[in-house]
Amino acid sequence: MLDNLGNLERTHSCGQLRAEHVGQTVTLMGWVARRRDFGPLTFFDLRDRDGITQVVFNEETAREAHAKAKQPRGEYVIACTGEVVLREEGQRNPKIATGAVEVQARALLILNDARTTPFQLEVAGGETLAAEDLRLKYRYLDLRRPQLQANLRMRHRMLTEIHRYMDEQGFTEIETPIMIKSTPEGARDYVVPSRTFPGKFYALPQSPQLFKQLCMIAGLDKYYQIARCFRDEDLRADRQPEFSQLDVEMSFPTLERIYTLVEGYFARVFRACIGVELPVPFPRLSYAEAMRRYGSDKPDLRFGMELQDLAPALEGTTFAPFAAALAGGGGEVKGVVVKGGAKWSRKLLDELQEHAKRYGAGALAWIKLGDEVSSSLLKALGEETIKGVAAAAGARQGDAALIVAGKAKTVAASLGALRIEVAKRERLIPENVYAPLWVTEFPMFEYDEEGDRYYAMHHPFTSALDEDLPLLERAVEGGETQLLGQLRAKAYDTVINGVEVAGGSIRIHRRDVQRLIFKALGMTEETARERFGFFLDALEFGTPPHGGIASGIERTMMVLANTENIRDVMAFPKTASAADLMIDAPGEVDPQMLKDLHIRVKEA
Ligand code: ASP
Repeated sequence: MLDNLGNLERTHSCGQLRAEHVGQTVTLMGWVARRRDFGPLTFFDLRDRDGITQVVFNEETAREAHAKAKQPRGEYVIACTGEVVLREEGQRNPKIATGAVEVQARALLILNDARTTPFQLEVAGGETLAAEDLRLKYRYLDLRRPQLQANLRMRHRMLTEIHRYMDEQGFTEIETPIMIKSTPEGARDYVVPSRTFPGKFYALPQSPQLFKQLCMIAGLDKYYQIARCFRDEDLRADRQPEFSQLDVEMSFPTLERIYTLVEGYFARVFRACIGVELPVPFPRLSYAEAMRRYGSDKPDLRFGMELQDLAPALEGTTFAPFAAALAGGGGEVKGVVVKGGAKWSRKLLDELQEHAKRYGAGALAWIKLGDEVSSSLLKALGEETIKGVAAAAGARQGDAALIVAGKAKTVAASLGALRIEVAKRERLIPENVYAPLWVTEFPMFEYDEEGDRYYAMHHPFTSALDEDLPLLERAVEGGETQLLGQLRAKAYDTVINGVEVAGGSIRIHRRDVQRLIFKALGMTEETARERFGFFLDALEFGTPPHGGIASGIERTMMVLANTENIRDVMAFPKTASAADLMIDAPGEVDPQMLKDLHIRVKEA
């Protein structure tokens, strides 16, 4: 038989009691995390969102309650009333905040029972060993784990600070619609069929990009929103099909104004959530420099290991792979130095080679400056040249150098990835250090070899640097298409510890320039009108210069909560194939509903 709660009020949470409460009569309510029976004594670890308190039922002083205390098992919901007592010296538990005391209970209510949970909620250290699919199916149980609850509370703290900060900065939160028409951000849209317009679909926003620009055209001046965005793309560890972003747009902005606003935002959130003072202003690296030095447009600056150009040391080489890369046409030979890497085994080097190949490298060459010089290039280059190459890379006695040759893009991608992989394996990344930076001057366009066309690196509403605008005209109107690859954008990303936590741009506010960009992207006037007619019209009614940024809430939370799994920082996430295992979505719908929506599903 279960008990009724009646009018019983809890007096404290399970994380509250300290030595100063000794002698008070209290009532706690929560879940049974653990029960231990020692003859006349029965102990409970009672858990709620605030923490854990030890509750004891003593057969001598509370016979009836002690007998009843044999019933509740793990995850039963109970209420206990009793007196707070100091634990004996040796019995204290410094691992929990309430560890100095326990509650000597005299009454017990069993408010609800619980089936045996499909996985053990917690093992030592706050971790769980259960398979993630099982945890996702029973997400409400997984969420009982203190670590996940702490993350969700931190997320709330972050959102609260955002609202305060943006309000102080004079921004207005404006909600934009969820059922819209496709906005291009480079991913596939999720769509919703229309009942009233047969054969037509709404799209869910990949971001409120055009709406926030329209807010500027409307004269709203400073917009922000915690926007829910939807992108149907292949999921990775740091992606979810729906996610939130702090979305911002302002009129008459300078780049400096945006940088200051965003630095203030991150400084505020890091201070509020984890008590860390971020160094402001953030350093800035142009995209070109970031790629050159770190092989990445989101470099992790917590450690060195910069990429070194080895071309000068290899001048005149006849070794075919290097000679081919350096023969002109944008190839490179670069390397990174691993301190103490001379002790590395062949097996480890083979593993790193595999890693580099995953990022497109044809091969990974290495040099080890141990007691003797050893290298995969020894036969090809000879010891003298190898020593020169190692010195050019900056390797000293005891170090190793890892070398990749090929197209600049491949060299950057593979060495950039190796830099991170090696730093992780060698534990070169200091803990509790936060290294923010701006990456600026992204290219406007990226060339896609497969499709033989250029596409917008940020999105098609991004402005070019003023000094690069003449190139745009020449490229589009003068037929010098290859110039598109040289255009730099007024686009910027905020990166912290190698994670892209925000990205934005100054937008195009002139109709004529927007037209050129659409044309550069291979859109005819008709397609542009069809897709963005409303926006092109709006641009003709006095559009102010404007710009903005969006910062991923989950991405930032992952840095704050120090996790590599995005599911740790949201309440109800989906799997890598975009399924919600708990509610079993996506699901089928009633045939009548399909009929109303004018949809017939093809047999698979
Ligand atoms: N709409 C962009 C995004 O979601 C951000 C921006 O340009 O403000 O990434």
